[in-house]
Amino acid sequence: MEFDDQEASSNVEDRRGFGAVGLGGIGLGGIAILVIGYFLGVDPSQLLNLAQQVSVPQQEAPAQHTGPVTDETGHFVAQVLGSTEQVWSGVFEEKGETYAKPHLVLYDGATASACGMGRAAMGPFYCPNDERVYLDLAFFRDLRTRFHAPGNFPEAYVIAHEVGHHVQKLMGISDKMDQLRGHVSRSEFNRASVRLELQADCFAGVWANRAGNRARITDQDIEQGLAAASAIGDDRLQRESQGYVVPESFTHGSSEQRVRWFKRGIESGRVGDCNTFATRSL
Ligand SMILES: [Zn+2]
Repeated sequence: MEFDDQEASSNVEDRRGFGAVGLGGIGLGGIAILVIGYFLGVDPSQLLNLAQQVSVPQQEAPAQHTGPVTDETGHFVAQVLGSTEQVWSGVFEEKGETYAKPHLVLYDGATASACGMGRAAMGPFYCPNDERVYLDLAFFRDLRTRFHAPGNFPEAYVIAHEVGHHVQKLMGISDKMDQLRGHVSRSEFNRASVRLELQADCFAGVWANRAGNRARITDQDIEQGLAAASAIGDDRLQRESQGYVVPESFTHGSSEQRVRWFKRGIESGRVGDCNTFATRSL
């Protein structure tokens, strides 16, 4: 994909190089937490609170760079965010509504969020309380090396997936999920969480469909994106990390399911085709 004339979003907050808590290099343990944080844990608040206990206090307002992000990767992220803003503004307009754009925070190491302290080891996440996507660019390296997802389209897919969670928040879907918490069994909650995650994958596909020509998304990009979706399915991650698969503990869906819903969004480009809550077979 190429973004020659894509306007960069002005909603990127660059906190890199400020107030970061060094992790002293991510070892094996760090990588394990990263996988749990982004791919397995739909409930970042728990992880965040945990992380907070060992991190700097939340009250410390992080210093932040304002103005356009100028480095290559940062600029690319801002362009992807800009592209999602255009696509989702259009979708909301079609329904006679206005899309409230989320912010995206670039950070290294650790940073404060309204969901608690965000740490790079948790991977990218969306905090519904402050409507911000949190991204440490070290994760892009993991995409290439650990998850064998080269090219910039998998990176865009990760951002589009997190923005998908923002769209769910605006549509009131995440609130419904929150109401389930504590009222249903753990495995039932996990099942709902899988539907929420697969819908975010489908929404990422809707973005890819609608951004397609402008972002010059090629068939090869799609292949790489689907390979990334497959690499981060719960079944594959569990098999890699623990050697066996426990479907009741899935919170994001299997590789096959993630590919299927991402693909459905890419092919249809319609939000209505992403109703993962209304289907019997995922
Ligand atoms: Zn997610």
